Amino acid sequence: MNINELVNAKNNAQVQNVNGWVSSIRDHGGLTFIDLRDFYSSIQIVYEQSKNMPSDIKNEYYISVSGVFKERDEELVNKNTQLGKYEIHASEINIINKSKTLPFQIDNNIDTDESIRLKYRYLDLRRQSMKSNIVGRSNTFKSIRKIMDKMDVLEIDTPTLIKSTPEGAKDFLVPSRKNNSTFYALPQSPQMYKQLFMMAGFPNYYQIAKCYRDEDSRKDRQPEFTQLDVEFSNANPEIVKKNIETIVKFVFKDAYDIKIDSAFKNMTFSEAISLYGTDKPDLRIKETISDCTEVFKTTEINFLSDILNKEGVIRFLKTDESLTRKIIDQLDQELKELGSNGLGWFKIENNEISGPLSKLISESEKEFLISQGNGVFLFQAGQEMEIAPFLDHIRRYIFKPTTEQQFTFCWIDNFPYFEVENGNLQPSHHPFTAPTNEEDFIDNPELSTALHYDLVLNGVELGSGSQRISNPDLQRIVLEKWGLSNEEIQDRFGWFIEALSYGTPQHAGFAIGIDRLIAEVYNQNSIRDVIPFPKTQSGLDPLTDAPSYINENILEEYNLKYINKDE
Ligand code: ASP
Repeated sequence: MNINELVNAKNNAQVQNVNGWVSSIRDHGGLTFIDLRDFYSSIQIVYEQSKNMPSDIKNEYYISVSGVFKERDEELVNKNTQLGKYEIHASEINIINKSKTLPFQIDNNIDTDESIRLKYRYLDLRRQSMKSNIVGRSNTFKSIRKIMDKMDVLEIDTPTLIKSTPEGAKDFLVPSRKNNSTFYALPQSPQMYKQLFMMAGFPNYYQIAKCYRDEDSRKDRQPEFTQLDVEFSNANPEIVKKNIETIVKFVFKDAYDIKIDSAFKNMTFSEAISLYGTDKPDLRIKETISDCTEVFKTTEINFLSDILNKEGVIRFLKTDESLTRKIIDQLDQELKELGSNGLGWFKIENNEISGPLSKLISESEKEFLISQGNGVFLFQAGQEMEIAPFLDHIRRYIFKPTTEQQFTFCWIDNFPYFEVENGNLQPSHHPFTAPTNEEDFIDNPELSTALHYDLVLNGVELGSGSQRISNPDLQRIVLEKWGLSNEEIQDRFGWFIEALSYGTPQHAGFAIGIDRLIAEVYNQNSIRDVIPFPKTQSGLDPLTDAPSYINENILEEYNLKYINKDE
């Protein structure tokens, strides 16, 4: 019998074998009180020490209790626990299994290093807050399956030992013992396989897929994570966005009882950059960035005119005049650490201007600022994409979302096809994404945009997708423009271009990061708190000690050898 089922028991009823862990144990003279906890709930056990009971019960022992179920006197009711109204007067207690001394308490608020929590994850998962997160995860999977089934989308799995695929990160490699000197890769996503389903004539596909990306430890990324991966045949971005909106709204209602009423907003990449300084805007913050490049066209402030001569822009955020000098200085410091030249600012108060550059400002520039009303103007000037992250930082530093929980979704589309990374062109999504306009792309790939869309929730990128290239010739051109040689194209993607060459329907898809979605709903700082067994920031598993060295004899079977093994 579990503790929840006791609610239906009658006062003074005999109950048998209620099993659970000892949360706490208190000795009051002849009586001992135990808080007994199982997966569902907890209840107080009272036992008389005179009875023949085990005397060495300690925290987290797993015990079995039989006795009389009783309603407690009104004044004794413990309102903090669900079953605080009841207790069991034990007639028999048996220890099923003892527990060693705990490395940390099984409490919601513990101040324990995360690596210890991960080493003893099975104990960490006994804590109510972690348990709720994982149950929420299970509910999320259930709701996803319900809505996908309702929409008649096929759940199909794809292999996880595959040929190396590029999606921006490095692959995890798996040596093949049988096929000497060769390697599989673990999928960064099921991208090419889901496209193969469309080529094979399936109308749609979904999978709750494990994906693996060997990235340098970036904040809150995991080497393996879980995506809801979908693909639709005969589809375009509008169809996919509509379907994803339906799926997300259903999951929020069904799994978390959160009703999302409004339609998801949509903005282009360039609107997002100019208004928010980022392609992941947090729309819970209403304040936006303003542009005043035109106003300063004829400025006499030298460094600004230099920037404008190089086609730079001048943008600002305005806050009220109560912003203190101390905060301005702190923000200036943080911006410099991020690589900005620093914070430019003016203050307007009752038609008077102040600030470091106020003596150099022209009458018309001053008039413009005065026309915006009293307040402090926080400026950045430079190339649009270079200053965007600084403006984003200012916006999130000065303005905070209200504390009440809100879910603001937003689609971002019209991304540039390529971005420049360390001097090389990299597709902003992946090289299977269709360009918005084929001819423009062929003439000028650097300036071309893509049929790629991201879904952003409260400033977090929840997922990405695109319409795919369905024409093998265009696929080849995109790979060439990306910088691959003919041999590389043939070696890495020859099979894929071949598969595209037998009458491929137009298709489009999307993937939602399930870990991030749950972390947002449960307001967790890290996705590690919604993943049952995550790795540390540096990709280690303190519980099992993975990854680990492999015995050299075994390596030999794989035709592998350590070059430098630092032990
Ligand atoms: N494969 C992509 C990703 O994992 C998503 C997609 O384009 O469907 O980000």
